[in-house]
Amino acid sequence: MESFFWYFPFSALINAITSVVLGFYLIFTNYQKRIVRYLFYFCLTAAWWSISYFFWQVTKDGGSALWWVRLLMFGAIFSSVSYFHLVLVFLNLLQIKLYKNILVVFYTFAGIFSLLNLTTYFVAGVEQRLFFKFWPIPGKLYTPFLVMFAVQVILASVLLFRKFLNTKNKDEKMQSVLLLLGLFVAFIGGSTNYPLWYNIPILPWGNGLVTIYVVLTVYAIMKYRFMDIRVIFAELFSGLMMIIFSIDVALSKTLTELIFRLFALLIMIVFGILLIRSVRKEVRRREEITVLAKSLEEANVSLRKLDQQKTEFLSIASHQLRTPLSILNGYIELLKDGAYGKLRKPAMTVLQNMDESNGRLISLVDEFLNITRIEQGRVRYDFVQKDIRLVVDSVVEELSGRAEQKGLLVEWKRPVTAVKVFFDEEKIRHVVFNYIDNGIKYSEVGTIVIQLRADNDGVVLTAKDEGIGFERIDEVNFFQKFYRGENVKGTNVNGTGLGLFVCSKFVEAHHGRVWAKSEGLNHGSEFGFWIPYKQKA
Ligand code: ADP
Repeated sequence: MESFFWYFPFSALINAITSVVLGFYLIFTNYQKRIVRYLFYFCLTAAWWSISYFFWQVTKDGGSALWWVRLLMFGAIFSSVSYFHLVLVFLNLLQIKLYKNILVVFYTFAGIFSLLNLTTYFVAGVEQRLFFKFWPIPGKLYTPFLVMFAVQVILASVLLFRKFLNTKNKDEKMQSVLLLLGLFVAFIGGSTNYPLWYNIPILPWGNGLVTIYVVLTVYAIMKYRFMDIRVIFAELFSGLMMIIFSIDVALSKTLTELIFRLFALLIMIVFGILLIRSVRKEVRRREEITVLAKSLEEANVSLRKLDQQKTEFLSIASHQLRTPLSILNGYIELLKDGAYGKLRKPAMTVLQNMDESNGRLISLVDEFLNITRIEQGRVRYDFVQKDIRLVVDSVVEELSGRAEQKGLLVEWKRPVTAVKVFFDEEKIRHVVFNYIDNGIKYSEVGTIVIQLRADNDGVVLTAKDEGIGFERIDEVNFFQKFYRGENVKGTNVNGTGLGLFVCSKFVEAHHGRVWAKSEGLNHGSEFGFWIPYKQKA
């Protein structure tokens, strides 16, 4: 007898223990899951085969060897059918009639084989083959059984491979790969058992691989939630290390060696568990982040859609409002000019108020229109090279009267030489107008100083007032849409919080930037912008 003979009963025993432990563990912990019951069934058939294999190998008597081989054949017949059944359940194919019928055919064959298994049709007897004292002699039905076995393996592989190709789900892809790998291993392992039946001198070396097959199958189906390759590696690595350390413990020769190695094994187990846990945690966190990012993205898309709808609504509403307001404006002017007869003083005062209110409404609607144009990307820019001082001149002239009425002064520190810049006159005028207008609006005393200076290949314009000023928190927000500062809360200055937003968009379109500065509440403010002399093509 060869010295490695122990391998055959030993590997069968390992197969048996693994299948039994896994099978019962699954059924006790996850009985409610349908797939687990099929896994359990499959594990039992594998265990049946392995246990019989073990006893067949260790028995010393020919009669009982034949008996064990025949028992083993029950396991062999049903392990392939149960595996096929499991694959159909896993792939959700049992509802399809074709697969159901195929399964019925397999079970019918399995039933016939089982009925005849105890006769000489299946295993004719046992005899010496190589150093196996009681190797089975195939009966007439043995080859047809092998054909059925091969058909089941091929069919299961095709179905799993098809799943692998068709599914977009990463977990399912990995599951199919692992199941295929298990089947491949089982096929190689199992097929080493057959040559000797036909007197081909190949030993059943592949027996030990059956353990890997069972473990991979259970793993693939049960661990689908952790189908991350990193987790699989961490678990396989830890498992392998534990096996190596356990063998090391089993091979200890002295008590101190045993204690020492046991201690090492213990540390290995603790580290293994910690490693797996941390990898799993990491994977789960990533999954959560992905889910979160996805829902954020969805929220973002729907918000953007809403924003777009709002812009469209605003655009339509503003256009509809603008025309009647302009008409109203025209009639007020005519009334004021006496085109419909001379008005008395009280009527004139009322008319003046109407004019102001209408003016405010017009500028509000204009601001809305500006915003909708900006948001829909419909603003047209007309860049020409011009002396920017002229723009400031006209705004100062327009607003000085209003400043004076409030007891304020507008001081325009006009440079003596022309300041030529490429810009859109209408848009920059809008910005300068807003800055100075706000200076007047948000000041009760003092001077509004306008300055223009060259800076870094461009010009800086600042409007400095001695008005209400603001705290730091406002500084970054002033240029946001609809933002009205903390500083205006409690004052009775009307506004929409749209002016500066539009200004910043216009300046941005010039590749420039805007800013606001203040020493604090009631310490005045400075609003400024910079635009380059030339616009890049
Ligand atoms: P509105 O003046 O209609 O509220 P703006 O967009 O023009 O809207 O201004 C936004 C906010 O910036 C104002 O509500 C105010 O808080 C602040 N702000 C603008 N100009 C000044 C200024 N000269 N002094 C102090 N605060 C200002």
